[in-house]
Amino acid sequence: MQIIISTFFVLALMQAPELTSGDQDFGYDGVSGPLHWGERYRECAGKHQSPININVLRVKQVSLPDIQFVGFDDSIDGVHVTNNGHTVLIEVENEPHPRVRGGPLEGDYVFSQMHFHWGDNDTLGSEDKINHRSFPMELHMVFFKEEYKSPQEAVKHPDGLTVLAFFYELDRHYHPAYDDITAALGNVTELHASVTMDHPFSFLNILPYDLRRYFTYRGSLTTPPCSEVVIWLDFEQPVRLAHDQIEAFRELRSAHGKIKHNFRPIQPIGDRVVFYNIDNSYFNYNEVDDPDDDVTTQRPSRRKHGRHNGAIKNKSSVAIISVVFLAVCYLLK
Ligand SMILES: [Zn+2]
Repeated sequence: MQIIISTFFVLALMQAPELTSGDQDFGYDGVSGPLHWGERYRECAGKHQSPININVLRVKQVSLPDIQFVGFDDSIDGVHVTNNGHTVLIEVENEPHPRVRGGPLEGDYVFSQMHFHWGDNDTLGSEDKINHRSFPMELHMVFFKEEYKSPQEAVKHPDGLTVLAFFYELDRHYHPAYDDITAALGNVTELHASVTMDHPFSFLNILPYDLRRYFTYRGSLTTPPCSEVVIWLDFEQPVRLAHDQIEAFRELRSAHGKIKHNFRPIQPIGDRVVFYNIDNSYFNYNEVDDPDDDVTTQRPSRRKHGRHNGAIKNKSSVAIISVVFLAVCYLLK
């Protein structure tokens, strides 16, 4: 019986590689590389695949409702860091997990895991590109729709997952919030190695300041089975890391040596539209006091200035300003 259960567990792991710490038979080079994934995993040859290049001249500008980042500023204990042979996974043991709602999402999405993609050197490594620009690394925070109860069930539904994607760029200075991650990396260089972080971990600390400007589109997992079930949110402001902090990721090893790169090339965008969310409360900065600064709204701990909570109250004034602005533009034309 135990064997049956273990077999079932292994099979379950194989179904959703990016969601688990299992070791799957795909790679990033040669016959196991991205060009061949479609031969074995039909969906990898689909029409709505990720990653993509985002052409900022072709995006559709929108003002979506605020995203709520719940539990992102909590100090989380029991955070596991694992080398699964394709990337490094960060998983949270204890409930409740952080979650997101709002923006383009309907319903709550619960944290599943986060991981990174990087390249051989600092000129490439991100999966999505902006105007064909690559970044040296990209973070994927994967969340599954609460309604579907588990990541394994969620990947069977077109709105099953959302991934918050963050780009990195080089800085001369170290980013102190990444010290715990890079320290853990040193202990998981070998395949399947896993450690628990020494200190409590906060999601918010490793993210960029601006969480209001992002691109969003429908796509897929970027690893086999490439399921087209992901609502992507690519945040515009990169996180700044020192070269050595990025270099630490390149020390990780798979069964075939160092994981020097683990990003999938961009895929055709096809008939998809990329939306660009801008901050619709930008006009209201410094206008209003914080009536009820809910801990679950964005930037709970750091957002002391540049208020946005008056957004709804002042929507009509924004509309009036916009109409007047458009009218003036029209007259001047
Ligand atoms: Zn990923």
